[in-house]
Amino acid sequence: PHARDVDVDVVVVGAGQAGLSTAWALARQGFERSTGFVVLDGEDAPGGAWRHRWPSLTLGTTHRVHDLPGLPFRPGDEAAPAVESVPAYFAGYERRFELPVVRPVRVTAVDRTDDGRFSVVTDRGTWTARAVVNATGTWTRPFVPRYPGQELFRGRQLHTVDYRSAEEFRGQHVVVVGGGASATQLLAEISRVTSTTWVTRRPPVWREGPFDEHVGRAVVAEVEKAVREGRRPGSVVGLTGLLVSTPYVREGLERGVLERLPVFDRITPDGVAWDDGRSLAADVILWATGFRAAVGHLAPLRLREPGGGFRLDGTQVVGEPRIHLVGYGPSASTIGANRAGQAAARALRRELHPGMPLPR
Ligand code: FAD
Repeated sequence: PHARDVDVDVVVVGAGQAGLSTAWALARQGFERSTGFVVLDGEDAPGGAWRHRWPSLTLGTTHRVHDLPGLPFRPGDEAAPAVESVPAYFAGYERRFELPVVRPVRVTAVDRTDDGRFSVVTDRGTWTARAVVNATGTWTRPFVPRYPGQELFRGRQLHTVDYRSAEEFRGQHVVVVGGGASATQLLAEISRVTSTTWVTRRPPVWREGPFDEHVGRAVVAEVEKAVREGRRPGSVVGLTGLLVSTPYVREGLERGVLERLPVFDRITPDGVAWDDGRSLAADVILWATGFRAAVGHLAPLRLREPGGGFRLDGTQVVGEPRIHLVGYGPSASTIGANRAGQAAARALRRELHPGMPLPR
């Protein structure tokens, strides 16, 4: 549908875990589907960023994808690629709850209107809304740091978003940059077919023993604090450390492929080099260096703090309570996105329709 000047209470931007949990919760809070709220999603089909994960990522190798509210995720096969099973679950979820997802619609700008609403400008027309929930995740904004000499490198550089299979590197030397879960997982995989070097800025933090709720809570509290202060939230995984108990990590440690070096200081045409005189020939540099929040379309609202982040109280932007960020900072995980979506919907009901009865 071409939607010039469709007016609703709430526009949700993005239909990943965060957007769908918000949509489910908005319906529960009594917002009417389509006339009260819509979800605008840039993808061609359901699944959010899970549509684009590398084929070897299975549910067995993820940290666990939590159920969306109201419908358990029962993947038949833990070894099936997540790139198939999660989008199939999301598709069923959208149908089951008749969620008003409109796609493909890419939001290019959110701004204030003269009558106190928001205009949501897209490549398929403009929606106006009394409130906006931003749930755009990070996948569309891969982050690659800059190093001297980078543009002279004659080999191949790619980010994890471009990774497909270790096979394409057979016979080449691969330098993997980054200290997170993606880096360790891809190293474990690539080192089976070719030689690798791992570089990280800081020594990795190995976490023995299981990841318990206590650790989870402490980490989320730390990110929450950053967001309350308007700092960039950073990655939750960066704070939890790397779980030694994860099979690919344990096995990578045993094979010695998770010995790390500090990040190089320069990139040369043939590889990488350190200021202490060391150098290394490389054919491939794989940047497993994470993501930034995909929030460029919010720029007209001028909500960013000098520290580069958004200052949030719960999911609300401080000073602009009708803009919510779900799946951002402390809620940038599947479980966090679930909870945040529900919190945002409750807050929006209080804000926009304090007297509205709850359905059933
Ligand atoms: P997304 O799934 O990225 O959804 C955002 C949606 O918004 C997309 O459909 C996108 O197309 C759309 N969008 C973006 N910009 C626009 C725009 N301008 N206009 C319209 N639409 C737009 N978390 C866990 O809890 N457990 C795990 O095991 C786990 N494994 C992971 C493995 C990998 C490799 C990665 C990268 C992350 C993993 N995470 C995991 C993190 C988890 O994926 C995310 O926290 C969560 O899925 C994000 O959901 P989301 O809805 O915020 O984002």
